[in-house]
Amino acid sequence: MFEVVIGLEVHTQLNTNTKIFCSCSTSFGDDANTHVCPTCLALPGALPVLNKEAVKKAISFGTAVNATINKKSIFNRKNYFYPDLPKAYQISQFEVPIVENGELFIEVNGEKKRIGITRAHLEEDAGKNIHEGARSLVDLNRAGTPLLEIVSEPDLRSSDEAVAYLKKLHSILRFLNISDANMQEGSFRCDANVSIRPKGDTKLYTRVEIKNLNSFKFIQKAIEYEVERQTIAWEDGKYDDEVYQETRLFDTTNLVTRSMRGKEDSAEYRYFPDPDLLPVEVDEAMYNEAIKIPELADEKVIRYQKEFGIKEDDALNLVATIEMARYFEELVGAKISPKLCVTWVLVELLGRLKNGVTIENSPVNVAKMTELLKRIEDGTISAKAAKEVLDYLMDNDESVDSVIQKLGLKQVSDDGAIEAIIDQILNANADKVAEYKAGKDKMFGFFVGQVMKEGKGAFNPAKVNEILKSKLS
Ligand code: ADP
Ligand code: MG
Ligand code: ZN
Repeated sequence: MFEVVIGLEVHTQLNTNTKIFCSCSTSFGDDANTHVCPTCLALPGALPVLNKEAVKKAISFGTAVNATINKKSIFNRKNYFYPDLPKAYQISQFEVPIVENGELFIEVNGEKKRIGITRAHLEEDAGKNIHEGARSLVDLNRAGTPLLEIVSEPDLRSSDEAVAYLKKLHSILRFLNISDANMQEGSFRCDANVSIRPKGDTKLYTRVEIKNLNSFKFIQKAIEYEVERQTIAWEDGKYDDEVYQETRLFDTTNLVTRSMRGKEDSAEYRYFPDPDLLPVEVDEAMYNEAIKIPELADEKVIRYQKEFGIKEDDALNLVATIEMARYFEELVGAKISPKLCVTWVLVELLGRLKNGVTIENSPVNVAKMTELLKRIEDGTISAKAAKEVLDYLMDNDESVDSVIQKLGLKQVSDDGAIEAIIDQILNANADKVAEYKAGKDKMFGFFVGQVMKEGKGAFNPAKVNEILKSKLS
């Protein structure tokens, strides 16, 4: 029997406005080579100047994962040639990264587990090579975008754990607001290091690195394929021939990994401290500012249960994205009952979001949802009618009150109108009234039902109950 050993390296782009060593914009998706300058083009003589925001964001991350923050860290040159790297070296950190020895916790199949974070270091992103038929083009807009490379310990034991770890990391980055962590746009990229070993063995066997995985599904599939490939090689007595330290790519069409190149050892990169950059020294003021981090998803889950009395599962669902958590908190902040907010966010609103529409661009924004829920709470409309209003608002930009008016959904709360119907029902059922008064409490429900039916669902049920009780007592 084998045990799977996985360690993940995540490259996440920090969401600073400008690049890490120059003042070019980090904006994504613009015309090629429109955000470049002598520094990120590597023109001779241009010097890098470190972006303080990138450093702060790295410190915030370290704080969120209980890591050691090195108040003095060093930038190194990592030397290699590639057309998207005009300096022929990447500025990165090596022996002394800004963040070391962190941890995060995942839960898989009800089991909580600690995953060590070896280090997180700052570096610059490379540009992009674009291959068009016979020629290749280079776009350097991305060159110099700040990256935080987050390296885990080889603590993960299955593809499920790997995905849980990545989701947790993704959530932390989003809740800290230090990265868009958008996998499609490449601002959250993962390399998976995978090996197997006989169960009970503690030494690490040969790892294979699978590069640039950009969806949770592909990460899962790539790891599963790789584990199977290594296991079969072992069982066939071909482990030493077929499993060696190398970089592999995942073929997303055939769902297999393929050899890309032998894996460089770090010595081959000829790392050395970059003489153009002084060691990074984090002063107290900056440090104190950077470690003030916002509430993260796990803390929100605990607080929501304690403060609002909602179920753990609901709380977990509400923090699935920072946008949803924010939406929920704003509703509750508008003094609407938390339980009502839970249902209307998780069931009614989410159930109506389709075709890639997400909560942050929902046609019914928090302000509108607040108006709608207020109308349930003040008895203007029933919950059932509110669903009709919500349906309508998903397609039409109108005010809640005008939709209630237009669809004729206003509940009758007018005592006079309700009383008239109640009198009518009680008179027509004198025998049942007598039974009720003789102690048959169940009759009450019958009266409520009759009155509501006569009111065609427009009567405010709370009012009906109240008036009925006083008439029957
Ligand atoms: P490199 O840049 O050479 O890939 P790093 O130290 O940045 O080296 O990353 C190594 C990653 O590989 C870490 O996430 C580590 O946990 C993982 N790792 C190391 N050895 C193994 C192994 N035998 N099996 C699986 N993962 C491993
Ligand atoms: Mg690696
Ligand atoms: Zn630049």
